[in-house]
Amino acid sequence: MSVDKFAFIDEETAALKEQGLYINIRTIGSPQGAWTVVDGRRVLNFCVNNYLGFANHPKLKEAAKKAIDEWGVGPAAVRSIAGTMTLHVEFEKRMAAFKGVEAAVSFQSGFCANLAAIPSLVGPEDVIFSDELNHASIIDGCRLSRAKIVRYPHCDPDGLEEVIRAEPKTYRRALIVTDGVFSMDGDVAPLDKFYEVAQRHNFILMVDDAHGEGVLGKGGRGIVDHFHLHGKVDVEVGTLSKAFGVVGGVVAGSQRVVDYLRQKARPFLFSSAVTPADVAACIAAVDVLEESTELVDRLWENTRYFKSEMKRLGFDTGFSTTPITPVMLGEAPLAKEFSRRLFENGLFAMALGFPTVPRGKARIRVMISAVHTKDDLDKGLEIFAKVGKELGVI
Ligand SMILES: *Cc1c(COP(=O)(O)O)cnc(C)c1O
Repeated sequence: MSVDKFAFIDEETAALKEQGLYINIRTIGSPQGAWTVVDGRRVLNFCVNNYLGFANHPKLKEAAKKAIDEWGVGPAAVRSIAGTMTLHVEFEKRMAAFKGVEAAVSFQSGFCANLAAIPSLVGPEDVIFSDELNHASIIDGCRLSRAKIVRYPHCDPDGLEEVIRAEPKTYRRALIVTDGVFSMDGDVAPLDKFYEVAQRHNFILMVDDAHGEGVLGKGGRGIVDHFHLHGKVDVEVGTLSKAFGVVGGVVAGSQRVVDYLRQKARPFLFSSAVTPADVAACIAAVDVLEESTELVDRLWENTRYFKSEMKRLGFDTGFSTTPITPVMLGEAPLAKEFSRRLFENGLFAMALGFPTVPRGKARIRVMISAVHTKDDLDKGLEIFAKVGKELGVI
């Protein structure tokens, strides 16, 4: 009898379940909105990155349908061979103008944008200074580059300066890379301070603004606008799958950097372009954002209201200064039980545990959106208060 070569899967799965870390994947049965059908049940949705309601916005849907009629459903090639349609070029121009940069290049996802940008800019002779809590796609981009990776303490410019000083100056180039908004904690990187450090050492500065795009800055122009750092941050990565509500990634910066990525970035050269429908929907998102700041303003109003009420109820919402609202609970099993009971009461919010967040820092992550009404938020608060009391958290 042969040995079962996949026995490790059963063992590791059992271990995940025992530690309360096994991921239970819910199935969504309706468009994303303030209320969504999840596992067959209509619940209040506090779980998704649909900050502005764009995932089901009439103007974006209309643009996507029109693009299918005009352009078909697929690009049929990678960007560098025959996949660059005028739609892609138009979107990149619009995005650059929206963000106030010289140029932008789009990718299939934010994850791909990091895998594209980092290995194009640094290699084995170089060093990357990376925030210890950076997103997995930054980490993977760093690893793919084969540069030396030096982690610095979270959001700490002095700590960064220290690790830079401690690093032997044998490298060719250096890159400082940080999330803009940290997706699990909702805190914002002190990019103005990191810019000073990058200037002092003449290092490349890169920010991944996945959760800041459409959220931070004037009318959602992102973290660079928030800190008034126009023209000072070398590489700005964004995603079109969060506030933009569609799917895709983008790198914005100088014409020189963007043109270079079109020559070097492997996801650009070896993976097909984003579909016409997606690109057209993203252009429509830029239209809506440029027309009015109303949705972004409402997102922030909702955020301020929900957070202050959660604090008043006695919940620990961590260090967030953005619509990402962690409800800190500690151990993963408690967070999972909390999430389960929220769902029973008609509220959908995920528990996050290791390895998504550090051990002992499990939480429920509440995602606020501009499409939540005051009644929705009050209903959510009522359910949180009920479950919080039941489980002795407040
Ligand atoms: C979500 C996220 C990504 C991935 O973006 P996708 O477009 O979903 O691939 C990348 N970086 C950060 C910081 C993120 O939060």
